[in-house]
Amino acid sequence: MHEPPPAAPGKDAPASSRGVVPWHALPPERVFEQLESEAGGLTDEQARERLSRHGPNVLQRQKGEGPLKLLWRQVNSPFIWVLIVSAVLAVALGKVTDGLVVAAVVVLNTLIGFVQEFRAGRAIEALSRMVPENATVVRGGSKRAVPAAELVPGDVVEVASGDKVPADMRLVTSRNLQVEEAALTGESVPAAKQPAAVEADAELGDRRSVVFGGTLVTSGMATAVVVATGGATELGRISEMLRQATDLETPLTKALATIAKVITGAILVVSVLLLGVGMARGYDLSEAVVLAITLAVAAIPEGLPAIVTIALAIGVQRMAARRAVIRKLPAVETLGSTTVICSDKTGTLTRNEMTVQALWTPVGRYTMTGVGYSPRGELRREGPSRSELLMPDDVRDLLLGGVLCNDAALDGRDGEWRMTGDPTEGALVVAAEKVGLGVEESRARFRRVDAIPFESEHQFMATLHDDGRGGRRVFLKGAPEVVLKRCHRNGRVTEAQVLEEVERLARRGMRVLAVASRELPGARGSLRPEDVEAGLELLGLEGMMDPPREEAIEAVKACHQAGIVVKMITGDHLATAEAIGTRLGLQEPGTPGVVGAKLEALSDAELEEVAERTNVFARVAPEHKLRLVRALQSRRHVVAMTGDGVNDAPALKQANIGVAMGITGTAVSKEAADIVLTDDNFASIAAAVEEGRRVYDNLIKSLAFVLPTNLGLALILLCAVAFFPIQDFGGGPVPLMAMRPTQLLWINLVATVTLALPLAFEARESDVMRRRPRSPDAPVLSRFVVMRTGLVAVLMAAGAMGLFFWEYHYEVPHVGHARALAEAQTMAVNTVISFQIFYMVMCRTLTGSLRKVGLFSNPSVFMGIGALVLLQLAFMYVPFMRDIFGTAPLSLASIGLSVLVGAVVVPAVGFEKWLRGRKDGGPVERPREERTPPPGRPRERLPA
Ligand code: ATP
Repeated sequence: MHEPPPAAPGKDAPASSRGVVPWHALPPERVFEQLESEAGGLTDEQARERLSRHGPNVLQRQKGEGPLKLLWRQVNSPFIWVLIVSAVLAVALGKVTDGLVVAAVVVLNTLIGFVQEFRAGRAIEALSRMVPENATVVRGGSKRAVPAAELVPGDVVEVASGDKVPADMRLVTSRNLQVEEAALTGESVPAAKQPAAVEADAELGDRRSVVFGGTLVTSGMATAVVVATGGATELGRISEMLRQATDLETPLTKALATIAKVITGAILVVSVLLLGVGMARGYDLSEAVVLAITLAVAAIPEGLPAIVTIALAIGVQRMAARRAVIRKLPAVETLGSTTVICSDKTGTLTRNEMTVQALWTPVGRYTMTGVGYSPRGELRREGPSRSELLMPDDVRDLLLGGVLCNDAALDGRDGEWRMTGDPTEGALVVAAEKVGLGVEESRARFRRVDAIPFESEHQFMATLHDDGRGGRRVFLKGAPEVVLKRCHRNGRVTEAQVLEEVERLARRGMRVLAVASRELPGARGSLRPEDVEAGLELLGLEGMMDPPREEAIEAVKACHQAGIVVKMITGDHLATAEAIGTRLGLQEPGTPGVVGAKLEALSDAELEEVAERTNVFARVAPEHKLRLVRALQSRRHVVAMTGDGVNDAPALKQANIGVAMGITGTAVSKEAADIVLTDDNFASIAAAVEEGRRVYDNLIKSLAFVLPTNLGLALILLCAVAFFPIQDFGGGPVPLMAMRPTQLLWINLVATVTLALPLAFEARESDVMRRRPRSPDAPVLSRFVVMRTGLVAVLMAAGAMGLFFWEYHYEVPHVGHARALAEAQTMAVNTVISFQIFYMVMCRTLTGSLRKVGLFSNPSVFMGIGALVLLQLAFMYVPFMRDIFGTAPLSLASIGLSVLVGAVVVPAVGFEKWLRGRKDGGPVERPREERTPPPGRPRERLPA
């Protein structure tokens, strides 16, 4: 690929000339010039104007599956194929009405499945837009976070390890920048990038001076200027790479697909047997074939796949409304079986509103009042003379170090302070401002020359500054252990004294940062790791409080009630973690936590033991997280794990449910996660678990409703063909059928749609979070579903056949055979329908009474019942329907009788529920013995 010379583009239209300007070959100054921008960024005015010219920085997403493909997927299921073949066969044998009714079943089912899956796909697609994507941009000389969609060519953007590159950008400065460009080049090994211009004809993968939108920064940091946005980016040009994964498959749908195959096979075998029996009893061939076909159609639960998809899609939508965005559909189910949640502390369990409350210097102890990002508050010295202070030198030096070695910015223009950046650093800035140490002035006076950014692994940050006299000074801040190691001995305090002080603050639940500094000879322009290895002088400690979230405390309680253990995994100091863990109710006061370094020394078997026993882990590095997940999983736990950093990605992938933070999480972690929390709040995980359990409940409810119906209809037909008296009124010998084939199909057609579908919308049961987690190995067709299917099917068939004979024999003497048969058959259909209505209401809760879900909690139930009643009235009283289905109008008394018999299912299933409730506490799996009970809640007291 050869590019034209750099001078080619006009100044005015940077993005539209993409592909023409070889940005990678121009030096940064020329790039700024071309884009009419500068290192201080665009002004707000310019950015607004360019946004209207270039449009938002978003990529047109390609739809997941085309409608045709989706339609084909509906048709291409074993259920539907059997039905199609049946319809064709029936028509070929001259049974046109039967054939048409079967065809109607096929068409209706395909349509419903299609519409629902299409909507589900849309809903899931929409989710990707719910996870906010922000970029740090410099505008009008100051730094702020803006939605990535608002970036324009010419914007100066900062990226750091973990970020997704928001647009195509030309690097201006960089430090150890590594970018993974798999989204663009398919190459998953990160590529090193730097600002020096490269050859104009370099291939995409060799343009080291440019970073591309959609790629991931795996380490380092950089400042860059945006050269192309949205569809004009390299990624936008190869849009097929963006194919959204709207895969609607989950372990459950796969299990159901297998069940579908088995059921279909079994039904085919029984149908063939039925054909044999019919022939043996002397039926006409075409009659026997239609009976066999009807059996197949009646027994196949063809509506099931659509119901499953709908239930999952509803779950996904509700979870999104409760701030948990599902990225991978199977997570909806897995959530319901989660037994352990491992959560980060900062921001997830705590509010992430850090406030410095204590200062310590080798000279004295100080407390600071005031909360949050408020200018109010004061500094007091602890000790005998507790007076308000101006600002002693030791405090000034400490605060100055905290402010210089710091990337947070405070924006106080409109009275209220707003902070951009890491809250830990924000707290340091606020503390300095509170006592009148001007942050802007300090940063201007001691200009920053270079920096080593903070990384969780090494737990410190260092910056190099111009000391104002031509020399250089380094500031270092970080975890006290790490900083102290690098400080020289100080005559005034010993290391032990400092550590004791750290311990004292941490036990109060504070995060403690140490700040140190040292002069560097000469006027160097860069900072090397060796420069901060040793010889620093400790300036002091800043202790900051980050209180637990109220809703997290509640959510932890809810999890414990639900048999889920909550473990906190934090990078913070052990004593801080223990104090916060106790306040959150994760453990009893005084229970020791474990630090990451200790985990390293353990064998896998020992680790399992410790992982199971401990609920507070401190000073944990990302690689410890991975081992912890594995250890818990080998104890058969289903683990949900949160993470926000680049290096958390492996643990998030390994966990059964990886949970990323929507606001503070890195793009890399979001990419690896199954769920993204849009509010970073632990309570949202608990909410998602609750929804996950509800989805599964509703699937079982639908299954428990659909299967007995199908089996019951099959039984009615089987009994007739095999055992009922044979009659011959001219058309050849046929059994005295309790229902005509078309009538069976009618029930099959209307009942699934009107009655089974509403169950997918059922509200959650009141005790859904007071049960133990479902075992992931529990079969979908549990003993409960199988027993229930048998019980209800037999009852239904018996009721319908009983009333059929009763009506037939009662009416024959009065109205003759034909009319009596039509009435009796209508009676049987009516009985089944009323049976189904009652049974559906019973299915609204799996074990308990309707109080558990609330009678009116699910309006679709009443809409479904209303629709079915209307359809059934038409079935009996509309002449056209009577012709198709061979029905007869029934008297009020007969209808009353069929309703009464249908109602028998209420006490029957009620009794079954009661029995089961007494025996084992319901269809939900019993607790497994090896699980740890949550603290303060012995296993025996947990409701089963
Ligand atoms: P959690 O895992 O609970 O979310 P965290 O991820 O915030 O905690 P880290 O960010 O890894 O934990 O921080 C670990 C330690 O590093 C902190 O206890 C603190 O001592 C230190 N630290 C945190 N932020 C900074 C920073 N910006 N600069 C220097 N040191 C920091």
